[in-house]
Amino acid sequence: MPHLAEGIDRFRREVFPAKAGLFAHLATSHRPGTLFIGCSDARVVPELITQTDPGELFVVRTAGNLVPAHTPGGDAVGAAIEYAIAVLGVRDVIVCGHSACGAMTALAEGHDLTAAPAVADWLRHADASLARARAAGGRDGVTGLVRANVVAQLANLATHPAVARALAEDSVRLHGWVFDIASGTVEELTGARPAHAA
Ligand SMILES: [Zn+2]
Repeated sequence: MPHLAEGIDRFRREVFPAKAGLFAHLATSHRPGTLFIGCSDARVVPELITQTDPGELFVVRTAGNLVPAHTPGGDAVGAAIEYAIAVLGVRDVIVCGHSACGAMTALAEGHDLTAAPAVADWLRHADASLARARAAGGRDGVTGLVRANVVAQLANLATHPAVARALAEDSVRLHGWVFDIASGTVEELTGARPAHAA
């Protein structure tokens, strides 16, 4: 992966100097305004598609942009959500799905995941997504499941106490997005938010 080392070198020589003031500020300040929960997919780059600078997005990326519902005991995703909302005080949370998602394709098309048992286990966090898509007739295949999954993960998000508290205090807004890789467009899913969200 020599191109990564070349990228670091080019960043230091060409990109960093142009943002030196920003990085000097960020060296002692971490106040992102938005928690962005997206898929680990290499084609979905939050800072690129939103054209945001370092320091603006607190990012969590998981396979299938899945957000496990709150459970006692905690997990990495729950800890990141709690930190972003309760400590950093982000005002907006985005769950972003995307076209041609491998996780959603595997579920929609019923792929055999016996060789990837950890993936199969993880994708159980999309059970409600599948149920929603099937209740709608499943006519839209992967595309329909991607959308249903964003809605279902927003509901899971709202089960986390820090999110529930922020929603009750009207201090955070939840958003559901779908990024289309082929066209570069982002669709905001209206009606995707829990009823008590702004
Ligand atoms: Zn994906």
